[in-house]
Amino acid sequence: MIIKSIELREIRLPLVHFFETSFGRTTERRIVLARVTDADGAEGWGECVAGEGPFYSDEWTDTAWATLSEFLAPMVLGKEVAKAAHVFALMRPVRGHRMAKATIETACWDLEAKRAGVPLWKQLGGTRPQIACGVSIGIQDTPEMLIEKIRKEVDAGYQRIKIKIKPGWDLEIIERVRKEFPDIRLMGDANSAYKLSDVSLFQQLGRFNLMMLEQPLSHDDIFDHAALQRQINTPVCLDESIRSAEDAAHAIALGSCQIINVKLGRVGGHLEAKRLEQVARDNEIPVWCGGMLEAGIGRAHNIAMSTLAGFTLPGDVSASARYWEEDIIDPPVTVSARGTITPPHSPGIGFAVNLPRIEALTVRKETIK
Ligand SMILES: [Mg+2]
Repeated sequence: MIIKSIELREIRLPLVHFFETSFGRTTERRIVLARVTDADGAEGWGECVAGEGPFYSDEWTDTAWATLSEFLAPMVLGKEVAKAAHVFALMRPVRGHRMAKATIETACWDLEAKRAGVPLWKQLGGTRPQIACGVSIGIQDTPEMLIEKIRKEVDAGYQRIKIKIKPGWDLEIIERVRKEFPDIRLMGDANSAYKLSDVSLFQQLGRFNLMMLEQPLSHDDIFDHAALQRQINTPVCLDESIRSAEDAAHAIALGSCQIINVKLGRVGGHLEAKRLEQVARDNEIPVWCGGMLEAGIGRAHNIAMSTLAGFTLPGDVSASARYWEEDIIDPPVTVSARGTITPPHSPGIGFAVNLPRIEALTVRKETIK
């Protein structure tokens, strides 16, 4: 395929409920979308997961837009691309900016699968006819609100509850949640809010049978995490620190984690996610798909990725209605009463992109030819 045009759009999409992590609260998303069209008129869609500020990572909406528009799109345009798996290499001259790269890369995978007339998850080599779903619940104003939210999600069938923690919203909260829900699969995500000197807190959390503790220490660390993992019995899961398959191999070799959260944007797209999944599977390290408050296109890509064999734990991919009044895809993503999503069988991402809806939400648009 020859990529003929790349249309970038920024949409604004208010969340149904605010989402709070250890670094702040989000109420409205600013999402960059890419529509990639080839010389035969086939198209594919990608969604950038960069946040509204440089807090989860150094990328954010405006850096993604500028990097896509000025550098990444021109590197891909007009090139004869034999496979979507070759697109990431075309963007190699740009260092980092993996979320921006993933926007184009994932769109090219959607395009390739549509051209082949197969669902994206099959094109990626996925094997799971259903994926297991969990939810990620942000920091709430009161513990009672958190308990109420957890009850709602457990009743809806979700297979795993992840709660965001930060200093002052950790030990007592988890103790309280455990008392209320002794048997649920529960985990905490700190988004790098702690230091190795907090080891005694993590040792105390050991009695609550948590599935894992996600990214407790620095966002770019694997060394201190290894030291922490040696001193606690709860498995450490890395998120922010793992930007590539090589990072995963190094973290596994060091003993920094026992589980890895895979995010398409964080690693630069489907090719790198597949490589990472392979490294983890070869080392018997389970992986799962993390969430970045995606709208429907990003959510659909996450569903496809989660069908790969190594995704043995429930991920953060949940129903559109938990986030949006109305999603940008049709139908919206729904989850069964058993907490599963069935990947679609139509070609590409398998959900129709709701263009009138996207048009109505668009605040800027640029087509690079
Ligand atoms: Mg995380």
